[in-house]
Amino acid sequence: MSPRYGTSQGARLYFGEEHEMLRKSVARFVDREINPYMDQWEQEGQAPLHELFKKMGDLGLLGIRYDPKYGGQGLDSWFDLVFVEELGRISGAGISTAIGVQTHMATPALADFGSEYLKETYLQPAIRGDMVAAIGVTEAGAGSDVAGLRTRARREGDHYVINGSKMFITNGCQADFVTTLCRTDDKPGYHSFSLIVVPTNTPGFSVGQKLDKLGLRSSDTGLLYYDDVRVPAENLIGEEGEGFIYQMKQFQHERFFAIPPAYVSAQEMISTTVDYIKQRQVFGRPLIANQVLRHRLVEWMTELECLKQLTYHIVRMKEAGLDVTREVTMGKLYAGPLIRKIADGCLQMYGGMGYMSETPVSRFFRDARLYSIGGGADEVMSEILCKLEGF
Ligand SMILES: Cc1cc2nc3c(=O)[nH]c(=O)nc-3n(C[C@H](O)[C@H](O)[C@H](O)COP(=O)(O)OP(=O)(O)OC[C@H]3O[C@@H](n4cnc5c(N)ncnc54)[C@H](O)[C@@H]3O)c2cc1C
Repeated sequence: MSPRYGTSQGARLYFGEEHEMLRKSVARFVDREINPYMDQWEQEGQAPLHELFKKMGDLGLLGIRYDPKYGGQGLDSWFDLVFVEELGRISGAGISTAIGVQTHMATPALADFGSEYLKETYLQPAIRGDMVAAIGVTEAGAGSDVAGLRTRARREGDHYVINGSKMFITNGCQADFVTTLCRTDDKPGYHSFSLIVVPTNTPGFSVGQKLDKLGLRSSDTGLLYYDDVRVPAENLIGEEGEGFIYQMKQFQHERFFAIPPAYVSAQEMISTTVDYIKQRQVFGRPLIANQVLRHRLVEWMTELECLKQLTYHIVRMKEAGLDVTREVTMGKLYAGPLIRKIADGCLQMYGGMGYMSETPVSRFFRDARLYSIGGGADEVMSEILCKLEGF
């Protein structure tokens, strides 16, 4: 491909030689082990995650910031950012999302609040790439309103018995375990929920359906059933009744993960679009000769730079040990509408070709739609910010 437009020299302010080594190694992996297979995986409706994650685990890519005691690299948030940015170069958000579930959505609570037993039994194999993880929060009747969930875990001696279902679960059809948010009490409020690790080979657990989707077609999304699923009480993460709080903290990792792939993939899409409109002749001259289009492109690049700088600010805050809830929420709220606008605008510049499945912008357009829905919709981000600002 063409030069990557919009690569700022300012990057040197944040990243040194070691970061660039990691960047190259992730980029090489994406170029060799992921992008050549994307079309096939999109068509098949899933990727061979056990195979893919094993390769990533062997390279140490699944535990960048996790404790070396459990096989992680123990690196800081800047390295984590480099890793996530490079995943944005995957030519389809289905696979970056599948990887993000493994590294930033289904395992942070295990690492932060899990017992030694849970870390050895589930976190360590997830970091090695020997187990595929999924996170089960959403239900048919409870998405934005997480506290409305009804899947119930009843304590019976030294086991929990789980009944209910989970909807839209990424990696759900291939996962070896699902970190599942369950109700363990009927009391109103946020202390009636628990996060429990459910191995998917437990009797009573089943994948009801692999769901057919608009985008992220290379990622499998499952409807999961729990029918008297008995798991040992030691599979409880942290304290009973605190699962909602743990999940809200875990969402911060998930929402942070959404931001760098948004600005990187949008930047890549702009580069590809510029290549196209430079050579596409309309009314006897290249499309890019139209000032209105060139201006639109640089306006998007300006907004992407703002999003990137907010992200770098978040990383600096993380490294200083500060709470990033406000800034991560703002970043996700800004990223969703921005990537959707750019996806729509780039597709428009391709005209009819943009509407064809074979053109990359068509996949980008379909995938981009999820940013404003998954991991908490834009309106949910706004509600969180209103609460934080006291409005
Ligand atoms: C491809 C895909 C993968 C997913 N992967 C996972 C996963 O791995 N694990 C998991 O647990 N979940 C997953 N989800 C679920 C996702 O997090 C939810 O879809 C999301 O939180 C929205 O919930 P909902 O779909 O139930 O929408 P609803 O809660 O029914 O909301 C519908 C719409 O209402 C609007 N809305 C919500 N609240 C307000 C408000 N206060 N004011 C105004 N408008 C509002 C929003 O625009 C929202 O989109 C996935 C979803 C998709 C589509």
